[in-house]
Amino acid sequence: MSPLVSVVAPIYNEGPGVDRFVHRLGQVLGEAGLRYELVLVDDGSADDSWVRIVQHTLADDRVRGIQLSRNFGKEPAVLAGLEHAAGDVVVVIDSDLQHPPSAIPAMVQRWRDGAHVVEAVKRNRTGQGLIGRLGGRLFNRAFTGLTKVDLVNATDFRLLSRPALDALLLLPEHSSFFRGTSSWIGFRRTTVEVDIDQREGGASRWTFGALFRLAVNGLTSFTSAPLHLVTLVGLAFAGFSVLLGAQTLIRWVRGGSLAGFPTVILVLLVMGTFVLLGLGVIGEYLARIHEEVRGRPRYLVQEKSARAVAEVPEQLVADRK
Ligand code: UDP
Ligand code: MG
Repeated sequence: MSPLVSVVAPIYNEGPGVDRFVHRLGQVLGEAGLRYELVLVDDGSADDSWVRIVQHTLADDRVRGIQLSRNFGKEPAVLAGLEHAAGDVVVVIDSDLQHPPSAIPAMVQRWRDGAHVVEAVKRNRTGQGLIGRLGGRLFNRAFTGLTKVDLVNATDFRLLSRPALDALLLLPEHSSFFRGTSSWIGFRRTTVEVDIDQREGGASRWTFGALFRLAVNGLTSFTSAPLHLVTLVGLAFAGFSVLLGAQTLIRWVRGGSLAGFPTVILVLLVMGTFVLLGLGVIGEYLARIHEEVRGRPRYLVQEKSARAVAEVPEQLVADRK
């Protein structure tokens, strides 16, 4: 039997986009002659996305739906899909058609050629304002530099073989960061280039706050460099204060001036800033530890929808042949 390809897609308030997505995937995968299943994860949408997903699962037994009990965010949604995927190989893709489904057959081919992880990297970067683009660039560079996990031009559009997926699912962290963890596991990997399309319908689900959280999560889960930075800055300040202290003492002994308020103010400001920043950095790590220690499940499933093959009426099966 030919291998089963699981396509995992997180869905949050995509509305009619759900139909477009399912249709497009059916088309592409059908044409490529791949045996596949679609795992659609409704990340607590407030619109009719779930109803649409259920309709698709009823019409086509290759489609499976999982509904999370609330909006957990894209990362947990992807994780839920991955844990429910049954395929020999799984592809994670955005449901807004920004990741071109037409790239999937090529990715599967790479897998057949022996790769365990196939990453789609972007040739371009559309659908984002200048600030978003700059921010993305900066973050990616800083992240790559600090963590040695290459994120430049990376996307969440990835294929994982069953062994790679099983390895990924072994990682226990609460706030997972798919792009990072799927690089961290290693495995023989390769890339395919894709053009990231404009979003079809709706606006990006990312707010600045959500992106900031993602960045902080990514950093704190992959490196403790910011903590070391705090230590380094502290050391630098120690050296600086020895010098400044010596100078002040000498002046005092010599009965020098009482002037120097600007210096006092400056030193206080700079010190205060760094102390607070340092505390903030430590706080972020502490928050992470707190989160991990609580050990809550990373997502909760409210409902699943998949039609057992036995339930499909004879007529439907006959129609499809
Ligand atoms: N998404 C999700 N939960 C969220 C936000 C987004 O499942 O809380 C899904 C969304 O439906 C889409 C994918 O994640 O399939 C990427 O979201 P979006 O297009 O908003 O992000 P961007 O493309 O701007 O990175
Ligand atoms: Mg998008």
